[in-house]
Amino acid sequence: MAILFVQKTEKDLQMKKIAIMGSTGSIGTQTLEVVRENKDIEVVGLSAGSNVDLMEKQIREFLPKLAVMGNENLAADLRSRVADLPVKISWGMDGLLELASMPESEILVTAIVGMIGIRPTIAAIEAGKDIALANKETLVTAGHLIMPLAKEHGVQILPVDSEHSAIFQALHGEDPSQISRLLITASGGPFRGKKTKELANVTVQDALKHPNWAMGRKITIDSATLVNKGLEVMEAKWLFGVDLDRIDVVVQPKSIIHSMVEFVDGAVIAQLGTPDMKLPIQYALYYPERRYLPGERLDFKKLTEIAFEVPDMETFRGLPLAMEASRRGGSMPTIFNAANERAVAAFLDEKIGFLDIYTLIEEAMAAHQIKEHPDLEQILDAEKEAWEFVDRWIAAH
Ligand code: NDP
Repeated sequence: MAILFVQKTEKDLQMKKIAIMGSTGSIGTQTLEVVRENKDIEVVGLSAGSNVDLMEKQIREFLPKLAVMGNENLAADLRSRVADLPVKISWGMDGLLELASMPESEILVTAIVGMIGIRPTIAAIEAGKDIALANKETLVTAGHLIMPLAKEHGVQILPVDSEHSAIFQALHGEDPSQISRLLITASGGPFRGKKTKELANVTVQDALKHPNWAMGRKITIDSATLVNKGLEVMEAKWLFGVDLDRIDVVVQPKSIIHSMVEFVDGAVIAQLGTPDMKLPIQYALYYPERRYLPGERLDFKKLTEIAFEVPDMETFRGLPLAMEASRRGGSMPTIFNAANERAVAAFLDEKIGFLDIYTLIEEAMAAHQIKEHPDLEQILDAEKEAWEFVDRWIAAH
């Protein structure tokens, strides 16, 4: 076999410029690990909510032009700490919008948690930036606005979530019109195999013990309720243009298969690997190129079996509720997402029990009058409505 050595051109060696929204979180810090491993990515902007200590360290290491904090006081604190460096410090939504549309950046990594990520993502698309998308809420609640906008501006939405990245990888070089169905894999979370009555008294600590992945707290609880899988199904619908009836969830407890695509001829293409978010992050940043990534590899001598199960939709109602919200469409996915977000925060604060999360989502959905084709303002109104519903419910119980 002949091996062709290609001389790198100057363009190949050019720096890739990225901004990261949510750089102090789980995805944000792992994105920075990928940056450390590769010498040709320049971080031009960073944002955090409240972690000033870590933001200061990140500024000193990556020397961005802009850093954004969650509020004015935190920004003032940060500004005084890094006064020796030529970095602009901003805060709040204005800061995020500035970060999203920085002329210096080519890709915005949306590693922020919550619907706060939507407006900056829209601003980035309008400014022609590709999006390395981790923030689930963006497509779940505003997929009908984001996907056409991305098309209009010719920008790529590159999935970071491991399941969507697996599908994206399986589709590489394929004709999307030949997809028969998408098979999204789920670990089943820490409570797989348990029944409803066994979940009544589980603690926050129990729910935070994910069997395979180390992630942020909110998404870890979402994995335990299967809400996360529901959000992923909704996201996949928009990302790959496949309707809900052709998206199935398969439980694969060891998280070795990250997701699969079945094509019209019956062939199934899957992406496998050890659970490491740096792989999908790096794939999104360099797509379609693959780069060396240090880390553990699958050992097929030790891997004696890959087991599959059907998800238990009766116990883990996060998934069927998400499907229902998505089928009903309009503003309903926002209600599903926002009620869950608020309920999960209350569960983490030990104000409600684990099963109350389902009750709150269900009741908030039942109380909502759907708005068809909501614009951004109506989406944010629906978020507020769901949050107020959850707050009232908690106050009354
Ligand atoms: P984390 O909670 O670990 O991190 C969230 C980031 O957002 C932090 O940098 C946090 O800042 C920042 N942030 C939170 N609230 C605000 C706010 N109000 N204003 C400004 N910044 C804020 O979350 P994850 O990294 O786990 O998840 C991020 C997104 O990626 C979520 O949408 C999640 O669903 C998705 N995702 C995550 C995966 C994972 O493996 N973790 C996998 C796939 C998708 P600070 O900490 O400084 O307050």
